[in-house]
Amino acid sequence: MNKRAFLEGFFTASAVAFGGHFMWKRVNQRDLLITPSAITAAVPELPVRPAPDSFILTPIELESTQPARGIPTPAPVIEVTNNEKIIIEDLSDQQVESYLRKTRNVDAVFASDIYLDLRYESLLLKTAARLGRVESYIGHGNFNLMSFDEMLQSGRDFSYIGAFETDELNFLEEIFFANPNRYGFFGKKISKKITESISRNDVAKIDDTGHYLLKGESLNLYEQIKRDVGAEVILTSGVRSIVKQMHLFLAKTIEANGNLSRASRSLAPPGHSYHGIGDFDIGKIGLGERNFTADFSTTEEYKKIAGLGYVDIRYPTDNLFGVRFEPWHIKIG
Ligand SMILES: [Zn+2]
Repeated sequence: MNKRAFLEGFFTASAVAFGGHFMWKRVNQRDLLITPSAITAAVPELPVRPAPDSFILTPIELESTQPARGIPTPAPVIEVTNNEKIIIEDLSDQQVESYLRKTRNVDAVFASDIYLDLRYESLLLKTAARLGRVESYIGHGNFNLMSFDEMLQSGRDFSYIGAFETDELNFLEEIFFANPNRYGFFGKKISKKITESISRNDVAKIDDTGHYLLKGESLNLYEQIKRDVGAEVILTSGVRSIVKQMHLFLAKTIEANGNLSRASRSLAPPGHSYHGIGDFDIGKIGLGERNFTADFSTTEEYKKIAGLGYVDIRYPTDNLFGVRFEPWHIKIG
């Protein structure tokens, strides 16, 4: 049996029903994930993604077939949507194995991954580019707090940015309102309204970082960690608005060649990020991009943090959000 056939069989076998819904479903890659009628009308027929039988395995996918070991214990429970729950004890070892392989191989590509349809590629690129112009025009710090309405206004006010076009706005709405369970993300929806905003009065700017924290629990916890762990600890991302999360998610989707499943294994889709309500990321000064890899967990700073009884991380190893291990992401509440 070749690897392709193995993967096909594996993922077909790993479709799991719970409460009348599928946790993992083998979806024909011709399916559109995003089907905004307003966009469809304006988009000419373009070639769709290759049929599954012309699918070519990449080296990274071969790696991704390495088995994951162990089942997390004690069995955790997470809420999905509409108060439904996934209980890992209800899954077979093989189903759990399939799930764990994905979050433990965060940059791998899996045969069951869900892609944005190719016909939206140019829309994805131009929308992300406009958001990039907003960010560079108003500055990274301000962009962290920017609301959807402020984003629209910035496009109207500044010709460098240019007004957001109808297809771009429809696209952003579709991304915001899509149910990411379908592509393997099981975290809660945190922000229900696309226009939710963060009040400037509720946040404090953190010196030398360009980031903000919500006053109260988040700010107090960050300051306590700095006191207990030392000056080498730095805030790498604080409170983030829906617009900021949209831009990050679109950029991640581009980096992942349209693979929404792969993008959401390392970044919560907009509306689903706990950064919107107080979570924050910390790193070690000088570690740079490696602060956002498992390398951070090997630093003295992380080891000290892990020893502090009062700090929790949001996405521990083998969590049930469908998200990679994030030792840098501090949980609030
Ligand atoms: Zn984070």
